Amino acid sequence: MKSKNSLMHAGNILITALLSVAIVSAQPVIIGLDGEPNEALLENHGARDISYYNLINAVSTDLPASAIQNLKKNPHIKYVEPDILVHALGKPSSQPPQQLTWGIERVNAPSMWNITNGTGIKIAVIDTGISKKHPDLNIAGGINLVGKKKGRNYNGDNGHGTHVAGIIAARNNNIGVVGVAPDAQLYAVKALDKYGSGYISDVIEAIEWAVLNNMSIISMSLGTPQYSQALEEVCNTAYANGVLLIAAAGNSGDGNAFTDEVMYPAKFDSVIAVGAINRNDTAPYFSASGPEVELAAPGVEIYSTWPRDTYTYASGTSMAAPFVTGVAALYWSENQSLSNSELRELLRNTALDLGEKGKDNVYGYGLVMAN
Ligand code: CA
Ligand code: CA
Repeated sequence: MKSKNSLMHAGNILITALLSVAIVSAQPVIIGLDGEPNEALLENHGARDISYYNLINAVSTDLPASAIQNLKKNPHIKYVEPDILVHALGKPSSQPPQQLTWGIERVNAPSMWNITNGTGIKIAVIDTGISKKHPDLNIAGGINLVGKKKGRNYNGDNGHGTHVAGIIAARNNNIGVVGVAPDAQLYAVKALDKYGSGYISDVIEAIEWAVLNNMSIISMSLGTPQYSQALEEVCNTAYANGVLLIAAAGNSGDGNAFTDEVMYPAKFDSVIAVGAINRNDTAPYFSASGPEVELAAPGVEIYSTWPRDTYTYASGTSMAAPFVTGVAALYWSENQSLSNSELRELLRNTALDLGEKGKDNVYGYGLVMAN
């Protein structure tokens, strides 16, 4: 029997729940509800990608055309109306311009963009999936490994994976934000469910998928305090196959640099453990410390992509790890003949030492830096 492991996530803000049910032709609708939302009722009618509103008792979803009339007859359904396009009554130029977030500036990403934007580097984001339709994200591919509907629907249903993806590679255009390596190829490997939790077995499968599909980098903003030999073996195998593995150190820091809270898989030798810093180059209380911490990166009040074409702030070592992933992608794209261990060495050598002089338990070799 599987035991459920607790996996960390940014745990912020609005959760947009999306469910996947196979249907042939669906149309976007808004459904008004009478009483408590009944997810099973909606799912039984073929609803998928259900999003709950906060201020009105209604959901937006995709529904098979054939189900609409049936659903309208149900006493718990007040109305079913088509979701229609609304047009802005202003000029496009009123949209706020793309911004450079503090984290992107702090790791010096723009200094490399005239050389490379991460072209040719494939990145597996093992997470809750990534919002497929976000206009500020290009997703090259992926897989869903959780729930009953395993397969190609890796659409992000939690927001966490979408946020991580934007930090790595939000597009350099005229909207929203820009990622560290905006031309890197993002692959959504969905191993965590809509609550941001998942089984080690699914994370192992995700790592295998990444190796078999020739990913350059595996980015894991997830962790558990429980050791797993199987997880260690698959990480070691991926590393031996030339993949660079990067993971969040954990959010269970206690403010004491001499106690070790680093989680797995970050704790393994084959994985780069990343701690968080704030705008003042200081580790926040929650950032796990220990001798395994290898690099630090921005992880407090990070603005990035979010489902339903939006953006939001989030904090956590989950946000720090993808900064390292992005910087690694820039260096690797610039010099594709490097091995994963040579790249790892380069990341250590170019890091900006913080805190105690030299490598320490809080910042590792220091703040990851592009240059
Ligand atoms: Ca953008
Ligand atoms: Ca130091």
